[in-house]
Amino acid sequence: MTEQVAIVGAGVGGLTLALALHRVGIECRVFESAAEMLPLGVGINVLPHASAALAELGVLGELERLAVATREAAFFNRFGQLVYREPAGRSAGYATPQLSIHRADLHNVLLAAVVERLGPDSVVCGHACSGVDEHDDGVHLHFRYMQGEERWDVRAQIAIACDGIHSAVRKQLYPGEGPPRWSGVNMWRGVVPRPPFLTGASMVRAGWLSVGKMVIYPIRDNIDGRGTQLVNWVAELECAQPVKRDWNGLGRADDILLTFESWRFDWLDVPDMIAATETVLAYPMVDQDPLPRWSFGRVTLLGDAAHPMYPRGSNGAGQAILDAMCLAEQLREFGITAEALTRYDRIRNSATAKVVLMNRTNPPDAILREVYQRSGDRPFVRLEDVVASEELAKIAEDYKQVAGMKAGDARQEKPA
Ligand SMILES: Cc1cc2nc3c(=O)[nH]c(=O)nc-3n(C[C@H](O)[C@H](O)[C@H](O)COP(=O)(O)OP(=O)(O)OC[C@H]3O[C@@H](n4cnc5c(N)ncnc54)[C@H](O)[C@@H]3O)c2cc1C
Repeated sequence: MTEQVAIVGAGVGGLTLALALHRVGIECRVFESAAEMLPLGVGINVLPHASAALAELGVLGELERLAVATREAAFFNRFGQLVYREPAGRSAGYATPQLSIHRADLHNVLLAAVVERLGPDSVVCGHACSGVDEHDDGVHLHFRYMQGEERWDVRAQIAIACDGIHSAVRKQLYPGEGPPRWSGVNMWRGVVPRPPFLTGASMVRAGWLSVGKMVIYPIRDNIDGRGTQLVNWVAELECAQPVKRDWNGLGRADDILLTFESWRFDWLDVPDMIAATETVLAYPMVDQDPLPRWSFGRVTLLGDAAHPMYPRGSNGAGQAILDAMCLAEQLREFGITAEALTRYDRIRNSATAKVVLMNRTNPPDAILREVYQRSGDRPFVRLEDVVASEELAKIAEDYKQVAGMKAGDARQEKPA
C-alpha cells in the first residue's frame, strides 16, 4: 500500500502536521519509533502564535482546560529583585492564550485528536525510521523495530521527517554535520506541587546563566482540590562538561542546590522547591546551525529535525506547530508534490533560522544578562541606575518580531 504522506515521528510536530493535513483533506500516517506512547518531558509554553494555530485545528479548548493560561512574564535578578514585567497571552492583547502546560497533556490532546479524526491506525508505534530513498513512484521509507534486526519498507508519495533533534533523516541528508552543538549550559528540570506564587499564572525568569538561572511557571491548576498547582522549573547553569543527551536523562537535585541556596524570596523559596522535587531531569542545552535547505525532492524536515534551537525563547514546539500549518497549506495548494515541499522550505527555513540565531544571542532572557552585567551581579538600589526599562522592553519586543508574534497583535504573521 502507498501512503499519501508518511510522517516520521509522533511528537508535537508530527501530530500537529497530521491534524493540519486532515483538515485540508490529505491522508497521512504517522510512524513513531517508541514501542508505545509514554508521557515524556515536563513543562512547555505554547506562545500565542502557536495557540492560534491550535485553535484553527480545534484543540485549543481542551488544552485550555488542562493548562495554565499565563498572564505575565516576570524577570528577577538572583537576589529576588524585580527587573522587568510584562503581560503575556490574552492579557497582552492576543486573541489566543499563552499556555503553560505539561508536555504530556499537550501530547495526549494532539494524539487523541489524531486518533479520533484519522482513525486508530493513523499512528503506528515501534517504527524506527533508518532512512528514506526516492524512486519514480515516490519514496521508500526504511524501518526497523527499535534496536532489533527486523526491517521493512513503507511506500509513500512524500515523507516528512518530524523525528526530533536526533533525526535519522537529517543525518542521512547531512551525513557530515555531526552531533548537536552544546551551548556550554546544562539544564535541570522538574515538576513539583506548590501553592500559587505571584499572580498564580506568572512565568518567572531569574538570575543569569553564569551564576545560575531559573525559569519557573505553573502548568496545572488546583491539582488537589485545595488550590495547589503543579509547578515546572528549569535551572540553567554554565558548566565545563555537557550532561548526557537524553530526553529522560536523570539529574540530581544536589548538583544545583548549592547554586540556588540563597534564593529564598518572599514570593518563592527556590531551594525548598528543588529539594521537594521527586524526579530531576538533566539535559545539555544544544542546537544546530541552520541548514541551507530541508527539502530534497519528495523528502523534507519539520520541527526539531529541521531547526533544533535553545529553549531560551519557549519557542521550539511553537515553531514546529507553525511549520506544520505552513506545510499543510503548501500541500493543499500545490498538491502532494516536491514543489510544495520546496515552497514550504523557502517560507519556513529562513523564518526559523532567525529564531535559532536569536536564541543564541538575544532571546528574552537577555534582559537578565544586561542586568547581571551592568549591576556587576550585585543587588541594586534603583533599577534605573542600572538599565532603562525601555531598553529591556526593546529586547522583549525584538524577540517577538523575530519569532513571528507582535505584542497586542493577535494575528499570526503570514510569511511573505
Ligand atoms: C528543556 C527544554 C525546554 C523546552 N521548553 C519549550 C517551551 O517552553 N516551548 C516550546 O515551544 N518548546 C520548548 N522546548 C522545545 C520543544 O520541546 C521541541 O522544540 C519540540 O518538542 C519539538 O517537537 P518535534 O515534534 O519536532 O520533536 P520531538 O518532540 O522530539 O518529537 C520527535 C518524535 O520522533 C520520534 N522519533 C525519533 N527518532 C525517530 C525515528 N528514527 N523514527 C521514528 N520516530 C522517531 C521520537 O520518539 C518523538 O516522538 C523545550 C526543549 C527543552 C529541551
